[in-house]
Amino acid sequence: MGQENQGNNSKFIRVWKQIDGDLIRKHLLYIDDLYGTCGNCKRLGLNYLKDKSCPQCGITFKYLATKLTNPAEIGKILSRIQKENLDLTLIERDDFEKSSARDAVKDLFKT
Ligand SMILES: [Zn+2]
Repeated sequence: MGQENQGNNSKFIRVWKQIDGDLIRKHLLYIDDLYGTCGNCKRLGLNYLKDKSCPQCGITFKYLATKLTNPAEIGKILSRIQKENLDLTLIERDDFEKSSARDAVKDLFKT
């Protein structure tokens, strides 16, 4: 991230990437517009532009997930991240929740 995003031709393109679900869970902030909830301890009212870590449980935020599906709203979030030069990656909340659900099912069959 960083320099390669500065060019005039830079566009947002969705990429598929394999990420460890636990890693995301430890660095996740759920956002609804500007304010969000810590994915770890569920603390409310966190601002992803200001809160680099959770004041309650101390995890650092690297991933954002949102319920918003409107591309214009998503675009606003991405632009803010870029403008503020934040080290945050927006992930698809659905993908994450589905992968978590799969983990939960797997856990059911663990002995
Ligand atoms: Zn927390």
